[in-house]
Amino acid sequence: SSDGGSKKTSRVRVAVRLRPYMDKQDDKGEGPCVRGLDSQNLEIINWRNAMETVKYHFDVFHGEETTQQEVFLSSVKPILPNILKGQNASVFAYGPTGAGKTHTMLGSSEQPGVIPRAVLEVFNLVRAKEGEEGWDYSIGMSYLEIYNEKVLDLLSPNSQDLPIREDKSKNILIPGLTHTAVSSFSDFEKHFVPATLNRTTASTKLNQRSSRSHAILLIKVVRTRQDLSQRQQTGKLYLVDLAGSEDNRRTGNQGIRLKESGAINLSLFTLSKVVDSLNSGTAVRVPYRDSKLTRLLQDSLGGSAHSVMIANIAPEYKYYFDTFTALNFAAKSKLI
Ligand code: ADP
Ligand code: MG
Repeated sequence: SSDGGSKKTSRVRVAVRLRPYMDKQDDKGEGPCVRGLDSQNLEIINWRNAMETVKYHFDVFHGEETTQQEVFLSSVKPILPNILKGQNASVFAYGPTGAGKTHTMLGSSEQPGVIPRAVLEVFNLVRAKEGEEGWDYSIGMSYLEIYNEKVLDLLSPNSQDLPIREDKSKNILIPGLTHTAVSSFSDFEKHFVPATLNRTTASTKLNQRSSRSHAILLIKVVRTRQDLSQRQQTGKLYLVDLAGSEDNRRTGNQGIRLKESGAINLSLFTLSKVVDSLNSGTAVRVPYRDSKLTRLLQDSLGGSAHSVMIANIAPEYKYYFDTFTALNFAAKSKLI
């Protein structure tokens, strides 16, 4: 490796989003076990002593009344102009199943999330820049899933496990992955919406597969010099809805599902190690190669890339231990 550990890497910005209390059915009059204090701090009941709380500090804390627009404006919009300049970025939603990852990333038609807002913004930025300063722009997309440490193409039916490679300039490539040029936001939706529907329909048949796999949308912006050189620069934006971070061993899964859990834990565990070593600033070796997820994100997480992790948490007691896990991951990532 030419850059070893000496090259400066950017840290991962960590935001925590607490969703509203909603599990009324499950409510035994306990109320929430976690609450926000201000825009950077929250507290959770101490399980050793319910009279006490444990406090956590993050780059950003989004309370339960935070809108989709506010999450987008604070955590995602500021990094998007970099994609047009040939830099890479990644945004990923972490947390237990039910805590709001898909709501944050995808949202609904009434409350669109990070993905539709970011893609629309990339189109707007490109439209505003087109032809300026001697560059032409084009936008393309890929959409994939990592399930059981297999890389599957969501834009191609019956996709087989795809290899991950690195070129001489240390760009990560996936030979065989569908890459589709998109000319407008509605063109993007034409490809993205059916693939997302397919993924979620298939998942109800296969034991909630969608909560056990990482869904990864890649938006690529290529700009080409208008002069004879035709020089090109590529910026990549990864938008990732991670697998649920809950400990599946505790829920008694066996056989195939236990194997899945192991694979998920490997990817998430490796992700936490990668984020940790990036944010500690003393990384000798960032363990990107230890899982498919981190290997895939290698050129878009740390280095010169702009990365944001949104840890989603839920206030109900039944999520208590999973919330602790998520907070410890997120807060540890924050410590320098
Ligand atoms: P996950 O993808 O982490 O499993 P979901 O995004 O599916 O979780 O969220 C679980 C439920 O909570 C969904 O019904 C979702 O609409 C709702 N929800 C999550 N976050 C919020 C929020 N911030 N405001 C309102 N509803 C939310
Ligand atoms: Mg989800």
